[in-house]
Amino acid sequence: MAGKVYFLPWNRKNELYQFLKTARAFDHVKARQFLAIKMHFGEDGNEGYIKPEYTKTLTDIAKEKTAFPFLTDASTIYVGKRSDAYHHLLLANKHGFTIDNCGCPIIIADGLRGNTAVDIEINKKHCKTVSISRDICYADSFIFLNHFKGHEITGFGGALKNIGMGCGSKAGKYAMHHNANPDLDIEKCIGCGACIKWCPANALKINDKKITFDKKKCIGCGECVLSCAKNVFKLGWNENTKNIQEKIIEFCYGVLQNKKSFSINFLNHITKFCDCYTTKGKVLMDDIGIIAGADPVAVDKASVDMVNKHFGKDFCKHIFPEIDYNIQFKYATELGIGSIDYELVNY
Ligand code: SF4
Ligand code: SF4
Repeated sequence: MAGKVYFLPWNRKNELYQFLKTARAFDHVKARQFLAIKMHFGEDGNEGYIKPEYTKTLTDIAKEKTAFPFLTDASTIYVGKRSDAYHHLLLANKHGFTIDNCGCPIIIADGLRGNTAVDIEINKKHCKTVSISRDICYADSFIFLNHFKGHEITGFGGALKNIGMGCGSKAGKYAMHHNANPDLDIEKCIGCGACIKWCPANALKINDKKITFDKKKCIGCGECVLSCAKNVFKLGWNENTKNIQEKIIEFCYGVLQNKKSFSINFLNHITKFCDCYTTKGKVLMDDIGIIAGADPVAVDKASVDMVNKHFGKDFCKHIFPEIDYNIQFKYATELGIGSIDYELVNY
C-alpha cells in the first residue's frame, strides 16, 4: 500500500505547525528522548537553506512531547566554513540559528574535526560498513529537514541526500565521493610533518625532508588533505554518479537501521546547485510548498514529481542531462528503505 505524503502550498507556509500535526510528523518521537533534526545551515553567502523560524515550529512540537530536540549537521570535506565544528557553529549562529530563534541547541554530530564517527556494518554492494557521524547514531529518532534543489552529482538533493551524504562522517563522505588514495604534489611539500599525526593509517612518513606515502596502508579518509597548508594532497572526485548515488543510499540504510524518522522537504528557493555553494544561486522557479512523510523515498519522489509539474518538464534532466537521478530511487527501493509509490494528501 502506498504511504501518505502530505503537501502544504507555499502561500500557506505559516500553517506549518498544524500541517505537521496533521501529517503526524512527531508520532515516532518519544518523551525524554533525543530527537535529531538533521538539516543544513547553509554555506557562507548561500541563501537557500531552510530558515531558523521553521525549526522553532518543529522544536515547539517536540517539546510538547517532552522530547529533547537538537539541530544537527556534520562536517564537509570541501574547504569552507562548515569543515569543522568550530567554524560550522559560528556560521550557523551568523545565519540566525541561535537557541532563542530555534528553541534548542545545535550539536555538530561528528565532532570538532569531523572524525568522531561510528562504523555501522551493512554488508551491501559497495560498502561493508558505513562511517556515520557519532551523535547521529546516539539520537533516539530523527526528523530530516531538507531543502530541495538541484545537485551536480545526484541530479537533485532532498531527503535521501541529506540522510545519506549529510549524516556521513568526513571519512564516510570521502568513501562516498572517492574510491582511491590521494594524489601528492611532492614539489609543494616543505617537510613540516604536520600531516603525519592526522593520518589514522600511519601511511605518511618524512623521508629526505619530503613526505612519503604508503598507498597500501591508506584508507582514503582524506585527513591529510585538510591538515596540509601547502595543498600537497588532492583527492580526485572520480566516482561516477551511479556509484555515488548507490553509496549514498547505502549510507541511508546504515543511518535508518532500527531508527524511526520523518522527512520534510521544502520546495522553495530552488536552484541548480546545492546549499554548499557560497553564491546566492539563481532561483529557477516560483516557491512551491512543503512535502512531508514518514518514507524519505516517497517524499523525494513526490517532490521531484511536484517540481516537474511546476517546471513543465523534467527539471533535473533539464539542469543535468547527463545524470540519471532515478538510480537512487531504484536502489533505495531495492534496499527496502521506502517506496516510490505514494498517496498525495493536500493539506
Ligand atoms: S603537512 Fe604538507 S607540507 Fe607538511 S609534511 Fe605534510 S605534506 Fe609536507
Ligand atoms: S587519506 Fe587518510 S589514510 Fe590516506 S594518507 Fe591521507 S590521512 Fe592517511
